[in-house]
Amino acid sequence: MVSRTTDDYMAMYKAGVRAVIEPAFWLGQARTHAGSFDDYFQMITGWERFRASQFGIRHYSAICVNAKEANNEELAEAVMALLPRYLEKENVVAVGEIGYDDMTELEHRYFKRQLILAKERNLPVIVHTPHRDKKNGVVATIQLIKEVGNDPSLICIDHNNEETVGMVLEGGFWAGHTIYPRTKMDAERMVAIVLKYGTERILVNSSADWGVSNPLSTCVVADLLQKQGVTQPELDKLFWENPVELFSRSGAFTRAELETELEFDQSNLFNGNSVLRGQAPEIRRHH
Ligand SMILES: [Zn+2]
Repeated sequence: MVSRTTDDYMAMYKAGVRAVIEPAFWLGQARTHAGSFDDYFQMITGWERFRASQFGIRHYSAICVNAKEANNEELAEAVMALLPRYLEKENVVAVGEIGYDDMTELEHRYFKRQLILAKERNLPVIVHTPHRDKKNGVVATIQLIKEVGNDPSLICIDHNNEETVGMVLEGGFWAGHTIYPRTKMDAERMVAIVLKYGTERILVNSSADWGVSNPLSTCVVADLLQKQGVTQPELDKLFWENPVELFSRSGAFTRAELETELEFDQSNLFNGNSVLRGQAPEIRRHH
């Protein structure tokens, strides 16, 4: 969400989005200082959370050294030292997204160490899987998680496709699918997966990054599923109950808390700054 505009937040609220989880991500360009990660983690757990709240959306984060930047050993080591402090923050719900990208030795090392961090803290994990040679990447991912011994019911293995979803579900994991407008997993293919596998332990995520992506992807998939005759209780499970069940296990929120509408007043300040940029504030109260 850090690369998204307030229009996106307004469109998301209007479409029914009430909570988001922002996984620590790369920025499209490699960072060169650990301090850049420190500020980024501060931003997604602080200012970005505030910004979302000013449009009625609860914002949570997952924190990690991502796979791409794990390939810079000196940097990754320094960022690892920052993680414990952030994993304790009240709005951090998971370690992630960690995993393999190019399947290098360094990716393996930091993936494993962060799985251990999550296991020690009993935290959910969001796992990225490689886009090239997907199937072997997922096989290696499952093997490593089993070796570390994480509880599979706390782990979302993401970026699945038709070839991998079955084995992820068989392993007892949550099967995540991040929907992009055209490439990777798109809405039509996601609908076919739900029609085949059902909604148990299936997660559907919107892509919402600095590239061609769409933070309303979940709504696009929900509409298509509805047209295919999928019932409202099944849609509720897929788009609300499933993610709430997994990520509430972090202790960051309860389902009841999440199901109360967030009140906001856009004249509120965060570190002396509001989202208004001189515009008139919107205030929403629920009684
Ligand atoms: Zn990913």
